[in-house]
Amino acid sequence: MVEVRVSDVKKWAGREAAVQMVEPWPEDAQARVDYPLINPAQVRVLVRNAGGGTLVVDISGQVKAKAVCDRCAEPFQIALPFEATEEFREEPGPNDENLDYSRFTGDAIDLDEIVSDAVGVSFPIALVCRPDCKGLCPVCGINWNESTCQCAPPADNRWAPLDKLVAHHLRQHEELERDKNGRTKA
Ligand SMILES: [Zn+2]
Ligand SMILES: [Zn+2]
Repeated sequence: MVEVRVSDVKKWAGREAAVQMVEPWPEDAQARVDYPLINPAQVRVLVRNAGGGTLVVDISGQVKAKAVCDRCAEPFQIALPFEATEEFREEPGPNDENLDYSRFTGDAIDLDEIVSDAVGVSFPIALVCRPDCKGLCPVCGINWNESTCQCAPPADNRWAPLDKLVAHHLRQHEELERDKNGRTKA
């Protein structure tokens, strides 16, 4: 579990504490990402007492994962920055009717959820090993980053089923004509 001790910070408004944490990734963080996260998680945490029983927690760091390129299918290691800010209040707080705050009890704040959320949103939908990855040849499958091939430029595949259909009809038409001619001659 990623958690930060706040026993000192929570005593006085204006007080701050900065911690660098090195922990295994929370299970929730891994659950949100399709690629194996590389341990450990290194998270910078800044806790600030904003007064009124409110602690503002800033987290930031870099998440590394074993990714697979969406273009060339090669495995590679990706490193993505993440950050988040969240306000916490101790529970039960005095006159505590404001529901916009996250809660904590005792002398530590559990950061699993905020870290997991931040890591989850840091991953883009498509991962490429590098911005100019050339990908694989759709004909022979060769990795265009590593070599070249003599394949014809990829045809527009959308029309392939239609081309087949047209060829089929042409063939039927020819056979029909042949039959007709055959009959006429007979
Ligand atoms: Zn690639
Ligand atoms: Zn090729």
